[in-house]
Amino acid sequence: MSAVGGGYGVETCAWRHGRGKEGAYGRCHVCMGKGSLPVSRPAQKCPDCLCTGRREEAPGEPCARCGGTGWEGAYRPAANTSGTAPR
Ligand SMILES: [Zn+2]
Ligand SMILES: [Zn+2]
Repeated sequence: MSAVGGGYGVETCAWRHGRGKEGAYGRCHVCMGKGSLPVSRPAQKCPDCLCTGRREEAPGEPCARCGGTGWEGAYRPAANTSGTAPR
């Protein structure tokens, strides 16, 4: 069972297809290199990028809707590092 908390499941990060390895952009900035990330249940694939995490017109850019996760309602660690982080 996941320890993420209520309403979330763990899904594979679409940006690097779960590899979380080094690439043209270095470590995956979507999942912080973990290869997976929490997604609110029920997990729904992003309709904009069809769960690829990429913009069709600009494959090098992360999908604006899902931030490159490929999922709707995904929790993005990278997106939550700004501002005050709850401890
Ligand atoms: Zn990733
Ligand atoms: Zn998307």
